[in-house]
Amino acid sequence: RTARIVSNQTLKHFYQWSINTGPQMIDDQDMWTEVYDAIEKNDISEAAARLRNGLERFFEMICNALQAPVPYTSSHRWDFGVFRSAAIGKYRNLLKEAKKALQSWGKDKQDQFMAVQQLEERVSQAAIQAGEESWGINSNVHFNEWSNFSKNDFLPVVNAYKELCATFLCPSCGQPIRGIGGGLNPERIQCACDKMGWSMNKNRTVKKLAG
Ligand SMILES: [Zn+2]
Repeated sequence: RTARIVSNQTLKHFYQWSINTGPQMIDDQDMWTEVYDAIEKNDISEAAARLRNGLERFFEMICNALQAPVPYTSSHRWDFGVFRSAAIGKYRNLLKEAKKALQSWGKDKQDQFMAVQQLEERVSQAAIQAGEESWGINSNVHFNEWSNFSKNDFLPVVNAYKELCATFLCPSCGQPIRGIGGGLNPERIQCACDKMGWSMNKNRTVKKLAG
């Protein structure tokens, strides 16, 4: 097993490089504005459609940022639920890995460990809440049926999904946490400003190196 040493500078370079070459920057504000505008007009059918489309783009982008595996379909069409579960699943795994790495450094990284733990709990809560409100993005609900739902029925749906989306984004730069280096098994996860950034490198100093 060989250890790879990548400097922070190199990682930042990688990061910029991937932003500039892919459709990776996110601006989700328009999406929420459109959804809330439709709710304000009591057009729940319109709000649901906008929410569904917006979430599909959002979670597709997150799958890209986290290198989340999505089951292949020859139609090249994936529905929102596929992107959502792939994104949540991969995010949880990465946070778990980051926690393991931080834990190996003991007291030195205890604060960061706690921060990741809190984020992990927030993701779990938000995923449960969004799951309970997922009737609101059901594409099988007929257009006419939406008239049965009011603003007050639909607001919890939007709020639940807004919170779920927020757990993937850094509150400072508004950009998603993404995997850096290592392909499907990132060496690091971080947002654009690196206020949320954690390495997957474990402390190996206590172990003897062979050869
Ligand atoms: Zn940031």
